[in-house]
Amino acid sequence: MNSPYMGDFKVTQEYKGNDHDGLDLVGIASKEIHSTVNGIVEFAGWENSSDQSQGFGQYVKIIDDVSGYGYYFGHMSSIKVKVGDRVKITDIIGIEGSTGNSTGSHCHYCIRKNGKGTHIDVSAVSGIPNKLGTYNDGYVSGSGNKSENKSVTLIIDGITYSGTLTKK
Ligand SMILES: [Zn+2]
Repeated sequence: MNSPYMGDFKVTQEYKGNDHDGLDLVGIASKEIHSTVNGIVEFAGWENSSDQSQGFGQYVKIIDDVSGYGYYFGHMSSIKVKVGDRVKITDIIGIEGSTGNSTGSHCHYCIRKNGKGTHIDVSAVSGIPNKLGTYNDGYVSGSGNKSENKSVTLIIDGITYSGTLTKK
């Protein structure tokens, strides 16, 4: 499983193809959103700055080096990257929020081949179950396989923890 979160997160709405073209995810351990691909930031900003309740609100789109597909992370409260940045898996790209067409803090996470209407099954690609529930992609504090180490900051109950996480 490869999620945009560190530690526990929830699936609050499933991928339903045309009816809902991504997974809605809510961070439990942290609201930080991390890149799930190596690639280039193609968009970072408001979908419609003159109507901040529209669409994805503040979102980031990353073009995956391997597939060329666009990876979208919607509804952020703030964005930590800019257009043209090269990002790698685990880099922090923003903070979960409720901007755009959203009723509560979450990340709309979807993958599109070529813009709207060309979505692919993000659950199948990411390994995140297409089922409401609480999950964890296996990144935990500690040491181990150094190729998968990553430095992160976790915010838990308002307290900030920094350290190195290692994938199980
Ligand atoms: Zn959604």
